[in-house]
Amino acid sequence: KAKSTAERLLFYRPEINAQVAETLLLENKLRKAIDQDQFVLHYQPKIHAGKGGISGFEALIRWQDPESGLVPPGRFIPLLENTHMILEVGPWAIRKALTDAQNWCLPDGTRPRIAVNVSPIELQQRDFVKDVEHAMGDFAARGCELDLEITENLIMNDIDENMKKLAAIGEMGVKIAIDDFGTGYSSLEYLAKLPVHALKIDRSFIDTMTTNSHSMTIVSTIISLAHAIGLTVIAEGVEDEEQARFLRLLRCDELQGYLYSSPMPPNAVETFLRPERKT
Ligand code: C2E
Ligand code: CA
Ligand code: CA
Ligand code: CA
Repeated sequence: KAKSTAERLLFYRPEINAQVAETLLLENKLRKAIDQDQFVLHYQPKIHAGKGGISGFEALIRWQDPESGLVPPGRFIPLLENTHMILEVGPWAIRKALTDAQNWCLPDGTRPRIAVNVSPIELQQRDFVKDVEHAMGDFAARGCELDLEITENLIMNDIDENMKKLAAIGEMGVKIAIDDFGTGYSSLEYLAKLPVHALKIDRSFIDTMTTNSHSMTIVSTIISLAHAIGLTVIAEGVEDEEQARFLRLLRCDELQGYLYSSPMPPNAVETFLRPERKT
């Protein structure tokens, strides 16, 4: 009997077989991780570039794997997306972030904004707007302010449909930032029309801006462009004072990166927010 391509591959290429087995194993473990509530969110502060002080936090997911400890999102988000398990984890992250943050207060008494990352797979769902609304529950009424970070390419993919969804989300008081900005292929024409509030400059440009004049020009251009069309700008991956100094000179609105803090578990945020500490 003739063998299928898959069978032949599995027969002659044991390493591929091992890879498939490993993916299946991970998939099972992630299913269990959802059922047993093994995901946690860590939070990284965003800083007002001009006046200093915290503006909000970005929630970044980690998996507390009982066997290997804290696993970073790069190792499991792609599989959650491929299997559509992200449709369970995404709304969980919104609820969890708003729950973790419900008692957080800035030194001036206002509430920090909380940003949650959204996967392309989530935005593509017909019920995305309803899902977000549902996940927010009655938090909005209690003054919790939610931001969503969505990558650039995906928004541009199905522009008309996405514009409607983003506008509907905006009506719920949620602010939207385009994540990893500069790495995709945004059309400038659409950018001005998109119902979004902020651009988040990709870390790759911040990394090299003080050593590469092209990067500096790109960063400077993104900031001017954003301001010209009424958007605020966040720089991610700010690691040293020199980058921060240039970004302030260029009038970037918010800064985020290891220079201020790595992402931290919720109990560490509470310490970080104590009024006696200075940012
Ligand atoms: P991102 O949204 O672009 O997040 C920024 C990443 O850079 C985070 O990695 C953060 O820990 C890291 N980072 C922050 N400051 C610095 C810095 O100064 N230097 C350097 N080198 N890195 C810095 P992390 O936490 O591993 O997250 C990786 C990606 O996973 C995120 O990229 C985001 O795309 C995705 N992700 C994280 N949480 C979620 C989630 O809840 N849902 C979805 N769909 N995706 C998530
Ligand atoms: Ca992000
Ligand atoms: Ca990024
Ligand atoms: Ca990203």
